[in-house]
Amino acid sequence: MKEISCKLLVIGAGPGGYVCAIRAGQLGVDTVIVEFGKPGGTCLNVGCIPSKALIHAAEEFEKIAHMAGGKGLLGITVAPPTLDLIKTVAWKDGIVSRLNSGVAGLLKKAGVKTVHGWAKFRDGKTVEVETETGTQVIRAETVVIATGSASVELPSLPFGGPVISSTEALALSEVPKKLAVVGGGYIGLELGMAFAKMGAKVTVVEALPRVLAQYDAELTRPVLKRLGELGVEVMTGANAKGLATKGDALLVETADGKNARVAADRILVTVGRKPVTEGWGLEQIDLDMAGRFIRIDDQCRTSMRGIHAIGDVTGEPMLAHRAMVQGEMVAEIVAGHRRSWDKRAIPAICFTDPELVTAGLSPEEAKALAGEVKIGQFPFAANGRAMTKQGEDGFVRVVARADNHLVLGIQAVGQGVSELSTAFGLALEMGARLEDIAGTIHAHPTQGEGFQEAALKALGHALHV
Ligand code: FAD
Repeated sequence: MKEISCKLLVIGAGPGGYVCAIRAGQLGVDTVIVEFGKPGGTCLNVGCIPSKALIHAAEEFEKIAHMAGGKGLLGITVAPPTLDLIKTVAWKDGIVSRLNSGVAGLLKKAGVKTVHGWAKFRDGKTVEVETETGTQVIRAETVVIATGSASVELPSLPFGGPVISSTEALALSEVPKKLAVVGGGYIGLELGMAFAKMGAKVTVVEALPRVLAQYDAELTRPVLKRLGELGVEVMTGANAKGLATKGDALLVETADGKNARVAADRILVTVGRKPVTEGWGLEQIDLDMAGRFIRIDDQCRTSMRGIHAIGDVTGEPMLAHRAMVQGEMVAEIVAGHRRSWDKRAIPAICFTDPELVTAGLSPEEAKALAGEVKIGQFPFAANGRAMTKQGEDGFVRVVARADNHLVLGIQAVGQGVSELSTAFGLALEMGARLEDIAGTIHAHPTQGEGFQEAALKALGHALHV
């Protein structure tokens, strides 16, 4: 049994863990990171990056198919396209593999030692790792738990055979003819829309009264319209009951209590993610929990001295950029810097068609906090750049305090608005007032002008609407 010691041990090399280890290494902290799978975790290997690659391929395919159908208005005529999903997936795997090497290289450059294998706590300062060459014992002054999350499995639809999670959906060799998506959250709709664009007949089964229920109805309206255009059937208030014994079908109890069959050769279950809190010896270290998650304070400290936790294992929102910021912060704390969580907003993006962005407070949350608010909403139908990109559906909305015009929240829906999330996040972090956004020169023609116009609108003098 080999034994090593270090100042910082990070368990899990997802966006939380690897950023923590890199930053610690940069600061001269003697750091070891343990990873069971490939560097980059869920996000890089089976989450953010591969899903966006597939979404991009689907978008390109659908655009060409649309033109080939004689429906394009751009004067472009093309032959009907074909799609070889094996090649698409190979292209996506190539991107993932390049990024895997990138992360491994960055860890090495920062002087971080990587141990491959499954880590298990022996006690609060000691971890055992089952590696290919035997058990390795690692003793550390500080341990960071960054074990991430996994897909939730429904007891009535266990994964296997036609029932798949997002991980398998990203590695299919052919486009399902009929795809049932159980769960209309962001992962289900991103992937469901992508497969619909690739030619699958998609049905979304959602137990709540609407899909993307965490967003306000006005924000999701353009997405619902697009789902309709893509021929995606959305069953809300409906419960998936299990597989039909005969024929490829999902059994569903509809909102009015009737039994229905949804024909499907694949059933993608996207009913949420659960923190990975099992299998690594949580019982050995007696941490306080906050429901399913590890309880942390504003420095990501757990209830046990010398143990921090970051990323999906610590709670919502389960997003890569939250995990990264936590990782960076913890590394600096371990290196002796004074840091604590001081972020005003964690922007969230739903990469559906069109895309959705939220940053800061929703109009309702802002009203609850501030009492009176000013809201400015600017439609992309009045934005020249959006018109030239055939992306007129959608809007930007800015919510600010009525008394001092401090911006509290920003939402947008529209083609490509994910790239506006940076400006939204910056405005909130800098404590921008409506006048700051309105008074910033926004280059023309860009969709960003919609952001400026929304602020102007809240001030009562939008120029282009
Ligand atoms: P993870 O990325 O889950 O990494 C944890 C790592 O720890 C894993 O590599 C695992 O192998 C390792 N590990 C666990 N236990 C052990 C152990 N005992 N020993 C050794 N190693 C261990 N987020 C976004 O921000 N934007 C998106 O567009 C987005 N899209 C997504 C799409 C999909 C389909 C999915 C599934 C997720 C998506 N997410 C997205 C969420 C994002 O992937 C997660 O929020 C992020 O990966 C969390 O990072 P993490 O470091 O906490 O954990």
